[in-house]
This record gives sequence, C-alpha cells and structure tokens, in this order.
Amino acid sequence: MYAKNIYTNISDEKLNAIKDFSADYIKYLSNSKTERLCLKESLALAKANGFKALEDYASLKAGDKVYFTNMDKNLALYVIGKNPIKDGLRILGAHIDSPRLDLKQNPLYESNGFALLDTHYYGGVKKYQWVTIPLALHGVICKKDGTIVDVNIGECETDPVVGISDLLIHLSANQMQKTADKLIEGENLDVTVGSIPLDGEEKDNVKKNVLKILNEKYGVDEEDFLSAEIEVVPAGNAREYGLDRSMIAGYGHDDRVCAYTSLRAILDSDAQDYTTCCILVDKEEIGSVGATGAQSTFFENTVAELLVKSGDTCYLSLKKAMENSKMLSSDVSAGYDPLFPEVNDSKNCAYLNNGVVFNKYTGARGKSGSNDASPEYFAWVRNAMDCNDVHFQTAELGKVDQGGGGTIAYILGNYNMNVVDAGIAVLNMHAPMEIVSKADVYETYLAYKAFLKQK
Ligand code: MN
Ligand code: MN
Repeated sequence: MYAKNIYTNISDEKLNAIKDFSADYIKYLSNSKTERLCLKESLALAKANGFKALEDYASLKAGDKVYFTNMDKNLALYVIGKNPIKDGLRILGAHIDSPRLDLKQNPLYESNGFALLDTHYYGGVKKYQWVTIPLALHGVICKKDGTIVDVNIGECETDPVVGISDLLIHLSANQMQKTADKLIEGENLDVTVGSIPLDGEEKDNVKKNVLKILNEKYGVDEEDFLSAEIEVVPAGNAREYGLDRSMIAGYGHDDRVCAYTSLRAILDSDAQDYTTCCILVDKEEIGSVGATGAQSTFFENTVAELLVKSGDTCYLSLKKAMENSKMLSSDVSAGYDPLFPEVNDSKNCAYLNNGVVFNKYTGARGKSGSNDASPEYFAWVRNAMDCNDVHFQTAELGKVDQGGGGTIAYILGNYNMNVVDAGIAVLNMHAPMEIVSKADVYETYLAYKAFLKQK
C-alpha cells in the first residue's frame, strides 16, 4: 500500500503486534548504546534463535543458520536457502554506530577545581544539542596484558551521570550573537567528571582523585586511556513518546532501529529459496571506512566461507553470489517535521505512520555520492511490498540542495548487485533524542520479511 496511514482501518490484532514489537525494541535500543553493545545484544538474540558459528557445521544445507562476528563490531547472519549460494542472496544491511562523543587518547585534565574529559565528536552532530543533558560513559579499556575492561557508568539508577556545561543565559550576551555552528565549539565538548581534591596531593589533586576512583573500580591507570574506546552517550533508557504513546524517544534510532527490524526479520523467517542475510556494520557515520565499516572485505569473506563450506570452491561463484544478490540498505530517512516544513518537497518526503520509506537515491548536490537504484529493481521491490500488503512510501532526504546524507547502499552496489535504501522515518535525526513511530517500526519489520521471501 503506497503512502497511506497505517492506523486507517487497523485491526486490533495489528495494534497488539505493534505494541509487543515496540516494547521489545525499546529494550533492545536501551541496551545498545554503542556498536559493541548492539553487537552483543544482537548476537545473543541470534544464538537464542538457533544461529551457530560456521565451525559448528560440518557442511551446510537449506535451513542452517550461521553467524559471523568481526572485532566485536560486525555481525553477519545467514539462513541457508534451497538454491545454490552462487545464485545470490537476499541481504538486509544496517549500521549500528551512531553519532556521539568519543574520549580522546589523553582525555583527563584538571582546570580550576574541576576534572574534565576531553572528547572528539563522532559523526554529524549539532554540538549545542549535547550540552546540559545527562550523559553516560560506555566502552572498553584495553590493558597491555590483554585484559579488556568493560566501562558502563550512568545507566543504573544508583550510578552518577556526567555532562557538558553551557553558559548561563544571564551572561550569554556575546555567545547569543554567534551562529549555531560556533555556539558550542567542538573543542569545548569536555565532560565534567569531578570536583573533590585528593587529600595530601598538591598539584592536579581533583584529577588524581578521579584516577583513584577509576583505579578502584576498574583497576586502570591514566596511561590505559591510550588504548581505550569510551563513548559519551545520552544516559537513560528509550521510552514511549506522545500522549497516545504512538512514538518512541531514544538515542541511536539511526540506525539501530533498522538493525533491530532487519535482525528480527531474519530471526523470524524460515529458509527461503535464496539464502537470506542480515549484516550489521560499523563506521557508517564517518564514511563506512576501515575493518569494521561496510567497505571492509569482512562481508565478502563470509560469503566465500559459506561457499567453501557448501562444497563450492570456484572463485567465480563468489563473484556470482555477490552480483546475483538483491539488497535493502536498511537505513533511516528524515521524517517530515511540521515545525520545519520548508526543508521538504511535500510530495517526496517521508511521513511518520506511513510505513517503510524507500530512498531511491540519497547523496547531495545533484545526487552526488548516491547509489541511485535502478527502476527495474524498484519495480520488483514495490511488487514485493504490494504482494504482502505492506505500507510503504518513497522519499528524498529533503529539498534539492538543502543538504543530504549517506548510506552503505553504494558500497554493496559496487559488487554489481541491486540495492535500494529502505528504512524508518526519524525526527530529530542525530540529536541525543531521536523519535520514530511504533507503527513504522513494525511495518518496516514486515517489509523486510516480505523482501526476504520474494522470489
Ligand atoms: Mn543512518
Ligand atoms: Mn546517520
């Protein structure tokens, strides 16, 4: 169904399904504040649904469920199909990194009675949105002896939170003259973490007290920050939004909402003719680069491993498997916001509650950097939606030359496979609190399931 409100003539059965699905998603999102945590949560769900490591199989047959992980930040799940793998896959791919603030390698310093942690922001953020809100610290500290210490401060009721200060309005005469990009400078996104001096120390004694606390809790010293990966993220759980509870407010919907719906689609689908796949990748927000980004050979390598395990060792089969695949790049789109109508072309934008959003192209300045899906493929996709009564809509990110965005679509497109962006409309994208519609979340799960089984 094209561009119709999901709630029109909705059945009680579907209303209940939306309610249950969104409750599960709220838990998943609340436990997935970083890509590592999201991987952990996703892998646990996969294992609980019968997915096993490739090493656990002697050979592969239709219906076998296989998982691969990479550096604790990528997950690839496969349900082996009835056709040979070289005939191609049905792939759902989402990213599990979200914009945030990362601690620098030498983060801790003391200034005028306060201890602070210096950060470098990750991904596209409006810096002024990240001050005066409760923040949590998540990540790992890797010690020289090989031990990895998990850090988690600010989520539990009894935990303290941290935060970044802003100037009081009373003294902001000069600050208020600045443009929004300069209001809070990136270098000033420093997190306040303490103010009590350690007894008996003379220099930097507030900083030393913070180090003492970290040493007691985690057994680490200041130099261990050199090999740490600690992300500063909004503290607290995702929750229902709106008096009618129709929406979900939370940090990191982009793109964990598409990760969750893709994951659940594959967990809840039986073996199909084609081998089905869900990949969760990292680093999309900074260009999909590196070993854990979509540009990594990790994904291709896992397909090669599947082929070998199925007894197909022909190199060309790998090329064919990639080329014959169809993919939905599961990523969020910009929802129409009634407070900012001027950035959208109203007939080519995504509306909350109207179902899964297809972006034929993204990019900026004349579709630059976009995948731009072929119309032949999109005809196949919309047929899959209509065959399964799925609510869908099509959109561009905004008006021409208003801005733009990226996805992983073009990267997989480079394998000569058909890819189109398909995801959920989000309000406040990249803000510490993003908003999605519960009905869209459930509908997108249905869309992904419809895609996986389409012949
Ligand atoms: Mn995204
Ligand atoms: Mn994004």
